[in-house]
Amino acid sequence: MEEQKRIMSGMRPTGKLHLGHYFGVISNWVNLQNDYDCYFSVADWHALTTNYDKTEQLKNNVYNVIIDWLACGINPEKATIFVQSKIPEIAELNIYLGMVTPQNWVERDPTLKDMAKILRNKDGQNSQIGFGLMGYPVLMSADILAVNAHYVPVGIDQVAHVELTRDMARRFNNVYKTDYFNEPTPKLNNCPLLCGVDGSKMGKSFNNDIKISDDEETTQKKIMQCITDRSRARKDDLGHPDKCEVAFKYWQIFGSQEELQNIENECKAGQRGCADCKRQLAKKVNEYFKDIRERRKYYENHLEEVDEIVQKGVEKSRKISKKILEDVRNIVGMY
Ligand code: ATP
Ligand code: MG
Repeated sequence: MEEQKRIMSGMRPTGKLHLGHYFGVISNWVNLQNDYDCYFSVADWHALTTNYDKTEQLKNNVYNVIIDWLACGINPEKATIFVQSKIPEIAELNIYLGMVTPQNWVERDPTLKDMAKILRNKDGQNSQIGFGLMGYPVLMSADILAVNAHYVPVGIDQVAHVELTRDMARRFNNVYKTDYFNEPTPKLNNCPLLCGVDGSKMGKSFNNDIKISDDEETTQKKIMQCITDRSRARKDDLGHPDKCEVAFKYWQIFGSQEELQNIENECKAGQRGCADCKRQLAKKVNEYFKDIRERRKYYENHLEEVDEIVQKGVEKSRKISKKILEDVRNIVGMY
Protein backbone atom coordinates (compact mmCIF):
# COMPACT_ATOMS: atom_id res chain seq x y z
CA MET A 1 0.00 0.00 0.00
CA GLU A 2 1.25 3.45 -0.86
CA GLU A 3 2.10 5.45 2.23
CA GLN A 4 -0.39 8.22 3.06
CA LYS A 5 0.69 11.75 2.22
CA ARG A 6 1.32 13.94 5.23
CA ILE A 7 -0.68 16.99 6.26
CA MET A 8 0.31 19.62 8.82
CA SER A 9 -1.53 22.68 10.11
CA GLY A 10 -1.99 24.61 13.33
CA MET A 11 -3.73 27.34 15.27
CA ARG A 12 -2.62 29.83 17.88
CA PRO A 13 -3.96 29.43 21.43
CA THR A 14 -5.02 33.08 21.63
CA GLY A 15 -8.68 32.41 22.47
CA LYS A 16 -11.66 30.22 21.73
CA LEU A 17 -12.14 29.45 18.05
CA HIS A 18 -14.70 31.08 15.79
CA LEU A 19 -16.80 30.28 12.74
CA GLY A 20 -13.98 31.45 10.46
CA HIS A 21 -11.81 28.66 11.84
CA TYR A 22 -14.65 26.20 11.45
CA PHE A 23 -15.67 26.94 7.85
CA GLY A 24 -12.21 28.06 6.73
CA VAL A 25 -10.15 25.23 8.12
CA ILE A 26 -11.53 22.74 10.68
CA SER A 27 -14.32 21.33 8.48
CA ASN A 28 -11.61 20.69 5.87
CA TRP A 29 -9.41 18.90 8.44
CA VAL A 30 -12.35 16.71 9.45
CA ASN A 31 -12.59 15.45 5.86
CA LEU A 32 -8.86 15.22 5.24
CA GLN A 33 -8.18 13.13 8.34
CA ASN A 34 -9.81 10.17 6.55
CA ASP A 35 -7.36 10.17 3.66
CA TYR A 36 -4.11 11.65 4.96
CA ASP A 37 -1.66 11.26 7.82
CA CYS A 38 -2.62 14.46 9.67
CA TYR A 39 -0.71 16.51 12.29
CA PHE A 40 -2.54 19.37 13.98
CA SER A 41 -0.54 21.64 16.24
CA VAL A 42 -1.53 24.10 18.94
CA ALA A 43 1.04 26.73 18.09
CA ASP A 44 1.79 28.12 21.54
CA TRP A 45 5.17 29.62 20.59
CA HIS A 46 3.32 31.54 17.88
CA ALA A 47 0.93 32.89 20.50
CA LEU A 48 3.96 34.34 22.30
CA THR A 49 5.01 36.32 19.21
CA THR A 50 2.27 38.87 19.92
CA ASN A 51 1.29 38.05 23.52
CA TYR A 52 4.57 37.26 25.29
CA ASP A 53 3.62 39.56 28.17
CA LYS A 54 0.06 38.23 28.57
CA THR A 55 0.42 34.56 29.35
CA GLU A 56 -2.14 34.12 32.16
CA GLN A 57 -4.64 32.56 29.74
CA LEU A 58 -2.14 30.69 27.56
CA LYS A 59 -2.49 27.26 29.16
CA ASN A 60 -6.24 27.62 29.35
CA ASN A 61 -6.37 28.56 25.67
CA VAL A 62 -4.37 25.50 24.69
CA TYR A 63 -7.23 23.47 26.17
CA ASN A 64 -9.80 25.73 24.51
CA VAL A 65 -8.36 25.14 21.06
CA ILE A 66 -8.10 21.37 21.45
CA ILE A 67 -11.58 21.11 22.93
CA ASP A 68 -12.97 23.09 19.99
CA TRP A 69 -11.22 20.74 17.55
CA LEU A 70 -12.46 17.60 19.28
CA ALA A 71 -16.00 18.94 19.53
CA CYS A 72 -15.96 19.76 15.80
CA GLY A 73 -15.02 16.21 14.89
CA ILE A 74 -11.25 15.96 14.80
CA ASN A 75 -10.76 12.33 15.72
CA PRO A 76 -7.59 11.53 17.68
CA GLU A 77 -7.77 7.95 16.38
CA LYS A 78 -7.25 9.32 12.88
CA ALA A 79 -5.35 12.58 13.34
CA THR A 80 -2.40 13.48 15.58
CA ILE A 81 -3.02 16.43 17.90
CA PHE A 82 -0.01 17.95 19.65
CA VAL A 83 1.32 21.09 21.33
CA GLN A 84 4.15 22.86 19.50
CA SER A 85 6.31 23.67 22.54
CA LYS A 86 6.49 19.97 23.45
CA ILE A 87 8.56 19.34 20.31
CA PRO A 88 11.97 20.98 20.85
CA GLU A 89 13.07 19.66 17.43
CA ILE A 90 10.89 22.38 15.87
CA ALA A 91 12.98 25.03 17.62
CA GLU A 92 16.16 23.37 16.41
CA LEU A 93 14.92 23.22 12.83
CA ASN A 94 13.98 26.90 13.17
CA ILE A 95 17.69 27.62 13.69
CA TYR A 96 18.83 25.74 10.59
CA LEU A 97 16.11 27.30 8.43
CA GLY A 98 16.85 30.77 9.78
CA MET A 99 20.43 30.44 8.51
CA VAL A 100 19.39 29.87 4.90
CA THR A 101 16.57 32.47 4.88
CA PRO A 102 17.42 35.87 3.37
CA GLN A 103 16.28 38.68 5.66
CA ASN A 104 14.13 40.37 3.00
CA TRP A 105 12.02 37.21 2.59
CA VAL A 106 10.53 37.78 6.05
CA GLU A 107 10.53 41.57 5.85
CA ARG A 108 8.21 41.63 2.84
CA ASP A 109 5.73 39.25 4.48
CA PRO A 110 2.21 40.76 4.17
CA THR A 111 0.72 39.14 7.32
CA LEU A 112 3.62 40.42 9.37
CA LYS A 113 2.99 43.93 8.07
CA ASP A 114 -0.68 43.64 9.12
CA MET A 115 0.27 42.42 12.58
CA ALA A 116 2.71 45.28 12.99
CA LYS A 117 -0.07 47.70 12.07
CA ILE A 118 -2.41 46.18 14.67
CA LEU A 119 0.28 46.39 17.33
CA ARG A 120 1.00 50.02 16.45
CA ASN A 121 -2.72 50.90 16.68
CA LYS A 122 -2.97 49.18 20.05
CA ASP A 123 0.23 50.32 21.70
CA GLY A 124 0.98 53.51 19.75
CA GLN A 125 4.53 54.82 20.15
CA ASN A 126 5.42 52.09 22.61
CA SER A 127 4.77 49.31 20.11
CA GLN A 128 7.69 47.01 19.49
CA ILE A 129 8.08 44.37 16.86
CA GLY A 130 9.99 41.66 18.68
CA PHE A 131 12.69 39.51 17.11
CA GLY A 132 10.33 36.57 17.71
CA LEU A 133 7.52 38.15 15.71
CA MET A 134 9.90 38.99 12.85
CA GLY A 135 10.94 35.36 12.77
CA TYR A 136 7.48 33.88 12.83
CA PRO A 137 7.35 32.98 9.13
CA VAL A 138 10.53 30.92 9.62
CA LEU A 139 9.11 29.23 12.71
CA MET A 140 5.97 28.38 10.79
CA SER A 141 8.10 26.79 8.08
CA ALA A 142 9.87 24.81 10.80
CA ASP A 143 6.46 23.57 12.02
CA ILE A 144 5.60 22.32 8.57
CA LEU A 145 9.00 20.89 7.65
CA ALA A 146 9.47 19.22 11.07
CA VAL A 147 7.05 16.59 9.79
CA ASN A 148 8.06 17.14 6.13
CA ALA A 149 4.40 17.68 5.18
CA HIS A 150 3.07 17.51 1.62
CA TYR A 151 -0.03 19.65 2.17
CA VAL A 152 -1.01 22.48 4.51
CA PRO A 153 -4.74 23.17 4.89
CA VAL A 154 -5.11 26.83 5.97
CA GLY A 155 -7.30 29.90 5.44
CA ILE A 156 -6.45 32.33 2.68
CA ASP A 157 -4.52 34.69 4.96
CA GLN A 158 -1.90 32.00 5.53
CA VAL A 159 -1.27 31.00 1.91
CA ALA A 160 1.63 33.42 1.58
CA HIS A 161 3.34 31.63 4.48
CA VAL A 162 2.98 28.24 2.90
CA GLU A 163 4.49 29.70 -0.30
CA LEU A 164 7.37 30.99 1.80
CA THR A 165 7.79 27.52 3.27
CA ARG A 166 8.05 26.13 -0.27
CA ASP A 167 10.75 28.68 -1.01
CA MET A 168 12.59 27.74 2.17
CA ALA A 169 12.39 24.02 1.48
CA ARG A 170 13.75 24.63 -2.02
CA ARG A 171 16.48 26.90 -0.70
CA PHE A 172 17.56 24.37 1.93
CA ASN A 173 17.61 21.64 -0.71
CA ASN A 174 19.69 23.83 -3.06
CA VAL A 175 22.17 24.96 -0.43
CA TYR A 176 22.83 21.42 0.81
CA LYS A 177 22.43 19.69 -2.58
CA THR A 178 19.66 17.39 -1.42
CA ASP A 179 16.02 16.70 -2.21
CA TYR A 180 15.20 15.98 1.41
CA PHE A 181 12.37 18.42 2.03
CA ASN A 182 9.05 18.27 0.18
CA GLU A 183 7.79 21.57 -1.17
CA PRO A 184 4.44 21.68 0.64
CA THR A 185 1.32 23.06 -1.05
CA PRO A 186 -1.57 24.91 0.60
CA LYS A 187 -5.02 23.32 0.59
CA LEU A 188 -7.98 25.71 0.75
CA ASN A 189 -11.51 24.94 1.84
CA ASN A 190 -14.54 26.16 -0.13
CA CYS A 191 -14.83 29.10 2.33
CA PRO A 192 -11.21 30.24 2.69
CA LEU A 193 -12.09 33.61 4.22
CA LEU A 194 -15.14 34.15 6.41
CA CYS A 195 -15.98 37.74 7.29
CA GLY A 196 -16.86 38.85 10.80
CA VAL A 197 -20.09 40.62 11.83
CA ASP A 198 -18.51 43.94 10.73
CA GLY A 199 -17.66 42.67 7.24
CA SER A 200 -13.86 42.44 7.65
CA LYS A 201 -11.94 39.14 8.22
CA MET A 202 -13.33 37.31 11.23
CA GLY A 203 -10.46 37.15 13.74
CA LYS A 204 -9.96 36.26 17.38
CA SER A 205 -8.26 39.58 17.97
CA PHE A 206 -10.72 41.83 16.11
CA ASN A 207 -13.82 41.69 18.33
CA ASN A 208 -15.98 40.75 15.36
CA ASP A 209 -16.20 37.00 15.74
CA ILE A 210 -18.88 34.47 16.59
CA LYS A 211 -17.34 31.71 18.65
CA ILE A 212 -18.08 28.05 18.07
CA SER A 213 -18.62 27.92 21.85
CA ASP A 214 -20.92 30.98 22.18
CA ASP A 215 -24.29 30.19 23.74
CA GLU A 216 -27.49 30.65 21.76
CA GLU A 217 -28.28 34.05 23.18
CA THR A 218 -24.81 35.46 22.52
CA THR A 219 -24.89 34.06 18.99
CA GLN A 220 -28.24 35.70 18.34
CA LYS A 221 -27.02 39.03 19.72
CA LYS A 222 -23.93 38.97 17.52
CA ILE A 223 -25.88 37.99 14.41
CA MET A 224 -28.31 40.85 14.97
CA GLN A 225 -25.25 43.17 14.64
CA CYS A 226 -24.32 41.79 11.21
CA ILE A 227 -24.11 44.38 8.48
CA THR A 228 -26.74 43.93 5.75
CA ASP A 229 -27.54 46.07 2.69
CA ARG A 230 -26.45 49.58 3.67
CA SER A 231 -28.59 51.24 1.00
CA ARG A 232 -31.79 49.93 2.57
CA ALA A 233 -33.42 52.25 5.12
CA ARG A 234 -36.89 50.74 5.67
CA LYS A 235 -37.91 47.14 5.78
CA ASP A 236 -40.20 47.42 2.74
CA ASP A 237 -37.51 49.08 0.60
CA LEU A 238 -36.41 46.73 -2.18
CA GLY A 239 -33.33 44.77 -1.03
CA HIS A 240 -30.15 43.69 -2.81
CA PRO A 241 -28.84 40.32 -1.54
CA ASP A 242 -25.69 40.80 -3.63
CA LYS A 243 -24.95 44.01 -1.69
CA CYS A 244 -25.76 42.47 1.70
CA GLU A 245 -22.34 42.57 3.33
CA VAL A 246 -22.59 39.83 5.94
CA ALA A 247 -26.02 38.28 6.57
CA PHE A 248 -26.59 36.91 3.06
CA LYS A 249 -23.03 35.58 2.95
CA TYR A 250 -23.78 33.59 6.12
CA TRP A 251 -27.05 32.38 4.61
CA GLN A 252 -25.02 31.00 1.69
CA ILE A 253 -23.28 28.77 4.20
CA PHE A 254 -26.22 27.80 6.38
CA GLY A 255 -29.22 27.84 4.01
CA SER A 256 -30.41 25.20 1.53
CA GLN A 257 -30.67 26.06 -2.19
CA GLU A 258 -34.42 26.43 -1.75
CA GLU A 259 -34.13 28.72 1.28
CA LEU A 260 -31.59 30.89 -0.53
CA GLN A 261 -33.91 31.26 -3.51
CA ASN A 262 -36.81 32.27 -1.26
CA ILE A 263 -34.73 34.73 0.72
CA GLU A 264 -33.41 36.29 -2.45
CA ASN A 265 -36.90 36.67 -3.95
CA GLU A 266 -38.46 38.06 -0.77
CA CYS A 267 -35.57 40.45 -0.13
CA LYS A 268 -35.63 41.83 -3.67
CA ALA A 269 -39.41 42.29 -3.48
CA GLY A 270 -39.16 44.21 -0.19
CA GLN A 271 -41.06 41.48 1.65
CA ARG A 272 -38.33 40.55 4.07
CA GLY A 273 -37.00 42.84 6.79
CA CYS A 274 -33.33 42.59 7.72
CA ALA A 275 -34.06 42.10 11.44
CA ASP A 276 -36.38 39.15 10.79
CA CYS A 277 -33.92 37.74 8.30
CA LYS A 278 -31.15 37.81 10.91
CA ARG A 279 -33.36 36.31 13.63
CA GLN A 280 -34.02 33.34 11.33
CA LEU A 281 -30.34 33.14 10.50
CA ALA A 282 -29.39 33.05 14.20
CA LYS A 283 -31.74 30.13 14.67
CA LYS A 284 -30.07 28.26 11.81
CA VAL A 285 -26.60 28.90 13.19
CA ASN A 286 -27.64 27.72 16.64
CA GLU A 287 -29.15 24.55 15.20
CA TYR A 288 -26.00 23.87 13.21
CA PHE A 289 -23.73 24.10 16.27
CA LYS A 290 -26.03 22.46 18.82
CA ASP A 291 -24.34 19.05 18.87
CA ILE A 292 -20.85 20.51 18.61
CA ARG A 293 -21.53 22.73 21.62
CA GLU A 294 -22.79 19.78 23.62
CA ARG A 295 -19.72 17.71 22.78
CA ARG A 296 -17.63 20.68 23.83
CA LYS A 297 -19.18 20.60 27.29
CA TYR A 298 -18.27 16.94 27.58
CA TYR A 299 -14.57 17.63 27.02
CA GLU A 300 -14.62 20.68 29.29
CA ASN A 301 -15.56 18.26 32.05
CA HIS A 302 -13.02 15.60 31.01
CA LEU A 303 -9.74 17.46 30.71
CA GLU A 304 -7.83 14.32 31.70
CA GLU A 305 -9.00 12.77 28.41
CA VAL A 306 -7.69 15.82 26.58
CA ASP A 307 -4.31 15.49 28.33
CA GLU A 308 -4.08 11.87 27.29
CA ILE A 309 -4.83 12.72 23.67
CA VAL A 310 -2.13 15.39 23.66
CA GLN A 311 0.42 13.13 25.30
CA LYS A 312 -0.10 10.43 22.67
CA GLY A 313 0.00 13.02 19.90
CA VAL A 314 3.22 14.55 21.20
CA GLU A 315 4.86 11.13 21.36
CA LYS A 316 3.89 10.28 17.80
CA SER A 317 4.85 13.56 16.17
CA ARG A 318 8.05 13.91 18.20
CA LYS A 319 9.25 10.54 16.96
CA ILE A 320 8.91 11.77 13.39
CA SER A 321 10.56 15.13 14.08
CA LYS A 322 13.46 13.47 15.92
CA LYS A 323 14.21 11.34 12.88
CA ILE A 324 13.93 14.35 10.56
CA LEU A 325 16.31 16.40 12.73
CA GLU A 326 18.85 13.58 12.81
CA ASP A 327 18.80 13.63 9.02
CA VAL A 328 18.97 17.43 8.89
CA ARG A 329 22.01 17.55 11.19
CA ASN A 330 23.75 15.08 8.91
CA ILE A 331 22.77 16.94 5.76
CA VAL A 332 24.00 20.25 7.19
CA GLY A 333 27.21 18.59 8.38
CA MET A 334 27.00 19.11 12.13
CA TYR A 335 29.38 17.44 14.60
P1 ATP B 1 -5.41 35.76 15.77
O1 ATP B 1 -6.30 36.96 15.68
O2 ATP B 1 -4.97 35.42 17.16
O3 ATP B 1 -4.29 35.76 14.75
P2 ATP B 1 -6.95 34.12 14.01
O4 ATP B 1 -8.43 34.21 14.16
O5 ATP B 1 -6.31 34.81 12.83
O6 ATP B 1 -6.35 34.56 15.40
P3 ATP B 1 -5.10 31.93 13.76
O7 ATP B 1 -4.81 31.00 14.87
O8 ATP B 1 -4.10 33.00 13.44
O9 ATP B 1 -6.52 32.60 14.01
O10 ATP B 1 -5.38 31.12 12.42
C1 ATP B 1 -5.58 29.72 12.40
C2 ATP B 1 -6.06 29.25 11.06
O11 ATP B 1 -7.39 29.69 10.84
C3 ATP B 1 -5.24 29.75 9.87
O12 ATP B 1 -5.15 28.69 8.92
C4 ATP B 1 -6.09 30.86 9.31
O13 ATP B 1 -5.88 31.03 7.92
C5 ATP B 1 -7.50 30.37 9.60
N1 ATP B 1 -8.45 31.46 9.76
C6 ATP B 1 -8.45 32.40 10.73
N2 ATP B 1 -9.46 33.26 10.55
C7 ATP B 1 -10.14 32.87 9.44
C8 ATP B 1 -11.29 33.37 8.73
N3 ATP B 1 -11.93 34.44 9.14
N4 ATP B 1 -11.70 32.70 7.62
C9 ATP B 1 -11.04 31.59 7.20
N5 ATP B 1 -9.96 31.08 7.81
C10 ATP B 1 -9.49 31.70 8.92
MG1 MG C 1 -4.12 35.02 12.69
